[in-house]
Amino acid sequence: MNHWQMIINGKEVDTKEKIEVSNPATLEVIATIPNGGKAEAVQAVNAAANALKAWSQKTANERGQLLMNWFHLVEQEKEEIGKLMTTEQGKPLAEAIGEVNYANSFISWYAEEGKRVYGETVPASALNKRLLVQKQPVGVIAAITPWNFPAAMITRKVAPALAAGCTAVIKPSEYTPLTAIRLIQLAKEAGIPDGVLNVVTGDAQEIGSAWMEDSRVRKVSFTGSTKVGKLLMRQAADTVKKVSLELGGHAPFIVTANADLEKAAKGLIASKYRNAGQTCVCANRVYVHESVEREFIEFFKAEVGKLKVGNGLTEQVDIGPLINESAVKKVKDHLEDAVNKGASLEIGGESVPSEKGYFVTPAVLTNVSDDMKCMTEETFGPIAPITTYKTNQEVIERANNSPYGLAAYIFTQDLAEAIEISEGVEYGIVGLNDGVPSTAQAPFGGFKESGLGREGGHWGIEEYLETKYISIAF
Ligand code: ADP
Repeated sequence: MNHWQMIINGKEVDTKEKIEVSNPATLEVIATIPNGGKAEAVQAVNAAANALKAWSQKTANERGQLLMNWFHLVEQEKEEIGKLMTTEQGKPLAEAIGEVNYANSFISWYAEEGKRVYGETVPASALNKRLLVQKQPVGVIAAITPWNFPAAMITRKVAPALAAGCTAVIKPSEYTPLTAIRLIQLAKEAGIPDGVLNVVTGDAQEIGSAWMEDSRVRKVSFTGSTKVGKLLMRQAADTVKKVSLELGGHAPFIVTANADLEKAAKGLIASKYRNAGQTCVCANRVYVHESVEREFIEFFKAEVGKLKVGNGLTEQVDIGPLINESAVKKVKDHLEDAVNKGASLEIGGESVPSEKGYFVTPAVLTNVSDDMKCMTEETFGPIAPITTYKTNQEVIERANNSPYGLAAYIFTQDLAEAIEISEGVEYGIVGLNDGVPSTAQAPFGGFKESGLGREGGHWGIEEYLETKYISIAF
């Protein structure tokens, strides 16, 4: 059996007990990983704490060089990493390689941005004083990541952390640990010193609690469910850690009467069905102006009909399997709930009998009302529920009627309307005529219960920096 180990202080670390990793397209076990717990979690913090001084004292340029070495190794191996990702996560190979590129763009971007961690001098109130403000790394950080972006969620956290001079302990999702371990192996090959990046696999609760109790861990950056995010925030209180949270979303996708409907349909395909609907910025609810409803649905259904579902390693597949059985159950439950409450299932929502894995074909629901589960809870699957609206004020209010506030999409060709709606929605990311807004140099993060803090751009490195004020009297 293909067995992978954790990496702590640059060494492979194993446990007696193993966890199986399966391919969601075939249900075959593809590898085993260690079932680490508190002991390994503490060992990882020891390593990161020991490595901190030397790493933080390197110049930004030296750290940038090492990050760029890592970038080049990932670039050389992106197809193999993509295949590994498809095998453990399910997304189509082209999409997986796309994710590796996206993940790697954080490494190269922060290799540079680390050089621009500027301080300030502030005018003093006395002639014999100078006031200096410096930025310093927060220290050891913990990164806890989900399965939907097995590479990008790691680099989006650790690239800015390392560039800032922090060291890290990482816990990837138990569903997709292999991509994470491979990335950290490459970081070691790139010359990033032992202990700077450590990866622990196993019991999430035990590892998480050990890190949250440890006063040496000064920051936690988490992407995942709102439930676990809230738990970590509570746990962080005892040692007053900094917290960055990227939690759930429930993205409204608004198609106005002035939209280019073909562009909007293509944007919705990109936003909705990427990763089989398993991203926190996926469109969850579609609001179409009543005057263009039928026309839009025809365009959209035609595009959905072209999507091919299957094993992501097969050529030309657009949609792979969902991650596990409970993901399929949730999608089916949301479909059933909608249909029972009066929605029409126009297309899709079926299993694929020829495949063993967790497949659901892309679904389109119409005649949807706001009380259906798919309109309030995160489906995390390939369902597009479509409803209509009459006025901009109405659609802004309905879009905002959610505890979430991560991403919103607006398709319109009218400038005044674009400004009115994009400024009116309470969301951290707005895709205006754009179904895929995420990029390394821009801030990613949510309002309300979708999270705290921002990843990407110069905002992303601030999360790993402390501000130190030095008052000089002479
Ligand atoms: P998802 O539904 O996306 O899997 P989770 O929040 O369950 O979301 O998982 C995201 C990450 O959080 C995973 O790495 C998972 O193992 C980890 N996790 C789950 N429960 C806990 C916990 N109690 N403490 C720390 N990490 C946890």
